[in-house]
Order: sequence, then C-alpha cells, then structure tokens
Amino acid sequence: MLAHLHSSLNSSPLAELLLGRFHGFQAPCVASRPVLRMREYLSIPIRDHRVALSKLLLADHCLAEVRLRWADRYRGPVPRAWRLCRFCEWTVETPAHALLECAAHPPLLAARSVFLTLLTERAPFMRARAVDASAWLAYLVTVTDVLPLMGSFSY
Ligand SMILES: [Zn+2]
Repeated sequence: MLAHLHSSLNSSPLAELLLGRFHGFQAPCVASRPVLRMREYLSIPIRDHRVALSKLLLADHCLAEVRLRWADRYRGPVPRAWRLCRFCEWTVETPAHALLECAAHPPLLAARSVFLTLLTERAPFMRARAVDASAWLAYLVTVTDVLPLMGSFSY
C-alpha cells in the first residue's frame, strides 16, 4: 500500500507544490521521501489557515489550473495552457501566479503587500530568494517559521 501511495503521489501532476516540484523540475531526493509523515503545515494553529494552505498544497483550490481540469455541464476539460488567470488573462492561473505574480487585481496586490511586509519582518533573507514565483512558493511552503504566514495569505 505504501508503494502505491508513493507511486501515485510522485506521478501526480497535482502534487507538484506538495512535493516541491514545479515546471518539470523534480527535487532529486523526492523518491526517498516518506509518503506518510507529519507535515509541518498541519501544525498551523489557526484551523482556517491550515485548511487553506493544505488545499493549496493538495491542489484542492478554486484556481483555474485545477478548476478547469474537469468538464462541467456546458464545457469539456480545458487544456492546461488555456486555464488563464481570471484577472490578467496572461498566464495559467496557478497558486504561484495568484499569490506571488499577478498584478491585475488591486485587492490581491494589497494582500500580497501585507504578506511581503510581514515576511520581510519575520525572515529578511526570504526576498533575496525570489527567482521564479513557482520556485519561491515551493520554497516558502517548506520553511516552518513562515508556514503560519503562508496559511494566512492562502486564506
Ligand atoms: Zn494574473
């Protein structure tokens, strides 16, 4: 059963953020990571924030990248490249884009500004790591001290 879980998780395109994979990159040690273990994000004290970040990590969110995977009554599944951001309509609406890149929705920009201010206060070294939004998000969700802030921002 563990082998099946390990295989399913490692082959799922929906587990990219959870496993630290993004855009085809896979961390070299993923195969050796235990599938069943206590994850740091499950210790976020505020339930709603914990649930929001968990949903983001498990691809159980309402962003177009996941929402448009499935057919509904009036349309079929949408190819990934066409699952564009609802605000800028420029790129695929992924968690990294929505949380860290998109500049087309003022309330989102305001929330991101608050997040970045708090992040800089708590962990000043974080901003220097901003190379690529997906890579940065994948990194942010691994830093235990930042997880409550990530949970709040995801919420
Ligand atoms: Zn956008």
